[in-house]
Amino acid sequence: MPPIYMDGHATTRVDPRVVAAMVPFFGEHYGNAASRHHQFGWAARDAVTAARSAVAALIGATARDVVFTSGATESNNLALKGVMDASREKGNHLVTVCTEHRAILDPCTRLAQQGATVSYLPVREDGLLDPTTLTAALRPGTVLVSVMSANNEIGVLQPVAELSQIARAGDALFHTDAAQAAGKVPIDVARDGIDLLSLTAHKLYGPKGVGALFVRRGVTLTPLLDGGGHEAGRRSGSLNVPAIVGFGRAAELCQAEMADEAARMIRLRDRLWHGLQGALTGIAVNGSMSARLPHNLNVTFDGVNGEQLLLGLVDVAVSSGAACTSTRRDPSHVLEALGVSERASRASLRFGLGRFNTDAEVDTVIETLRSLVTRLRSPVSVFDIDEDDDEPPPGWGDDFDLEVN
Ligand SMILES: *Cc1c(COP(=O)(O)O)cnc(C)c1O
Repeated sequence: MPPIYMDGHATTRVDPRVVAAMVPFFGEHYGNAASRHHQFGWAARDAVTAARSAVAALIGATARDVVFTSGATESNNLALKGVMDASREKGNHLVTVCTEHRAILDPCTRLAQQGATVSYLPVREDGLLDPTTLTAALRPGTVLVSVMSANNEIGVLQPVAELSQIARAGDALFHTDAAQAAGKVPIDVARDGIDLLSLTAHKLYGPKGVGALFVRRGVTLTPLLDGGGHEAGRRSGSLNVPAIVGFGRAAELCQAEMADEAARMIRLRDRLWHGLQGALTGIAVNGSMSARLPHNLNVTFDGVNGEQLLLGLVDVAVSSGAACTSTRRDPSHVLEALGVSERASRASLRFGLGRFNTDAEVDTVIETLRSLVTRLRSPVSVFDIDEDDDEPPPGWGDDFDLEVN
């Protein structure tokens, strides 16, 4: 069978309508958007202006508050390092959450090495940050609170509107990494009281290597890159015009189709979950099922060896609850924060449904998992023949104790 892509949290296919919008900007419209004295520059600048408006509209922002970057990693670095540096007189305390993406956690590590104090807040068993936990963490000298909108592994939606109010009441700025939420669920930086917001095109059917940081007017940050003073001095470097045009078109499409697409994703996601439930016992969803992205499912399969599960899924592209590094697979820090055991974490799969998935693909994935998991759980599994220390003893799955939501 042809491989099935269900890893939409890692990246998404560029929508063909986005590709079509980009193509002329590799060809006849090759000007530099900063060239002010000829038509080549004006054409590029006009296209960037339109894209900036489209990206701003997707998040309820004003176009001038949108800074184009190379992606959410850069946007997060700019938000955290830029604000902490520009606010040295106010304090050096930064608050974030232990389930954040590495593109938040690693800049926090760097800032801590450079003298900042970073608080990593725990989450509840359902993956959500309890607002009272944030209230208790704030203190004089807290400069910034950074909480992701939607989690990239378990898809849970943090209560950002409530959290931003708490941050503001504590005189701190509020940043959110919305790389997974943007284009999938409604975002309104004005309504939600957000001061800084990161997003990236390749998670919303646009190209890789382009993203944006929303910076509310009046918020000052030190740039990461100094140079020609592009993006009002906040991010120097000639703009990647074709990618920005694609980002704009992708944002437009997401906004126009969001309601229909979300409904379709919920239908596909429910089809997947109900199908798996009908086919297998001993499975559980990780993270809140109600405060969740429409297209995410993260499932633990009790009593299954995680390595074998992934090895058996050659034709289905999903992610596991363990991040691959060159030599070993580390269990997910997100599932760990929910209280999921290391073994259960390895036996967990992240499904990221998307615009191009079909009912038939969902049905194939259900059937693939039914037969694979049944085979792996069977005491006479052929996989058991090679003696593996990680292999659970027969019957081990019976008293498997998984206390997640
Ligand atoms: C993908 C992702 C990022 C990184 O985005 P890039 O554009 O690849 O740098 C950051 N945060 C979250 C939550 C993500 O899902």
